[in-house]
Amino acid sequence: REARIAPHMVVIPWLAQGHLIPMLDLARLLATAGANVTVITTAANVPLSTSPCPASLRFCVIPFPCPSLTGLPPGCENIDSLPTHRLAGPFYSAAKLLRGRIEHLLLHGLSPLRPPSCLLFGIGFPWLASLARDVLPIPRLVFHGFSSFTHLASHYLHACKTHERAYNFFLPGLPHKVEITRSKLPVFFDKASEVRSVYEEIREGEVAADGVVVNSFEELEPKYAAMFAEATGKKVWTVGPVSMCQREKLDVGLRGRKGSSGVDVDRCKRWLDDREIGSVVYVSFGSMGRLEPEQTVELGMGLVMSGWAFMWVVREGAPPPPVELEGVGERGIAVRGWSPQLMVLSHAALGGFLTHCGWNSVVEGVAAGVPMVTWPLGADQYLNEKLVVEVLKVGVEVGGRKEDEGLVRREEVARAVERVMGRGEEGNEMRRRAKELADKARRAMERSGSSGLSLAQLIHDVACWPVA
Ligand code: UDP
Repeated sequence: REARIAPHMVVIPWLAQGHLIPMLDLARLLATAGANVTVITTAANVPLSTSPCPASLRFCVIPFPCPSLTGLPPGCENIDSLPTHRLAGPFYSAAKLLRGRIEHLLLHGLSPLRPPSCLLFGIGFPWLASLARDVLPIPRLVFHGFSSFTHLASHYLHACKTHERAYNFFLPGLPHKVEITRSKLPVFFDKASEVRSVYEEIREGEVAADGVVVNSFEELEPKYAAMFAEATGKKVWTVGPVSMCQREKLDVGLRGRKGSSGVDVDRCKRWLDDREIGSVVYVSFGSMGRLEPEQTVELGMGLVMSGWAFMWVVREGAPPPPVELEGVGERGIAVRGWSPQLMVLSHAALGGFLTHCGWNSVVEGVAAGVPMVTWPLGADQYLNEKLVVEVLKVGVEVGGRKEDEGLVRREEVARAVERVMGRGEEGNEMRRRAKELADKARRAMERSGSSGLSLAQLIHDVACWPVA
């Protein structure tokens, strides 16, 4: 059956900054490539976009259930806005209360557009995979925000029966044995985790979905997407790096939403403009990551010891950088609040990225051609670190210790930063590989590149999806 009319794709991003950002980018890419796209989200999560959106991209705003029903403080419509991580469970339950409203919209309320031809849902809405399937027989696609590598590793780990805390597993397709310690696996492999039931639901959603959309590109993980597709029997489309969709202006909206107007973007840019090419390390632990106070001091002192300039993003509520840092003067700055990450990563002054290895950050670092110092904190980040350090060889690991392993000392931080930033053979090689990957990322996102073609294929597949 040939596709004659543009499909109407309904995108429902999970309510966390690290999921909303790539899914909104994806929505924009789909709309630009010819699909009609409706994004369903709550009022506080609609980006304040000042850049023109394609006419085929529209937002459908639904109210978040009120505090008396959810037990959450007013205004908490995004995981990142929760006052404490302990509210993540209640937040997830609150999001389930959106079910009736979303179901009604999908079945009756999305006029004047045609009925939906596909549902693309975020990780926290696994129940959408089965929602009204009997009356709405359209493909359900999931976006986890994981790499293909993590998807494939997760697939094998779920099947793994061992309960040992330390064990090796072998990921097919890798040139060597990958060693992973159970305590460092994503929480959903921890049978004792209190949020385990949530992760089991997420897993069920993935199993029930008809396909998986991945923010990655073929040349970055040549075998893993195909192997994951083969292992699960699902369709997999790799369409990234989605951050290359010209979203700069969209960032402004998201930043504004986070109420972090304290970040002076122009000042950040001017500060970078004044630095030498390749001389700055950008330090960020993503939208939620925080270090303990003692560890913050060691990191800060390590950055100072390294001798390189640094820009360090400090989340609201995180311990302040050590006072001694004041001594470094203009060589280091702390950015308090939401940093303009894409702008920073693409600035010529940037030489390295100390990252918690959230997948968005990794792909954004790759797209910018910047080698990394890896410091995972949880979730899929330890697996992403494996990919960056052991497979792609564009990074050096330094952090990511559990409490029982002690602090990462300042000397270790300084050494890792120097290995990545230094002009010796190791640093030069990493920079060469990082630049090569950035070139491949740029080509992948062209219309005739691997991700451009995969995106077109996704739209085509949805338009031609066989009716059950
Ligand atoms: N981000 C940003 N400014 C910040 C922190 C994060 O623009 O100060 C963006 C970053 O560019 C990425 C996303 O937020 O797109 C974070 O996603 P990631 O997967 O790296 O980590 P998470 O926050 O989900 O742990």
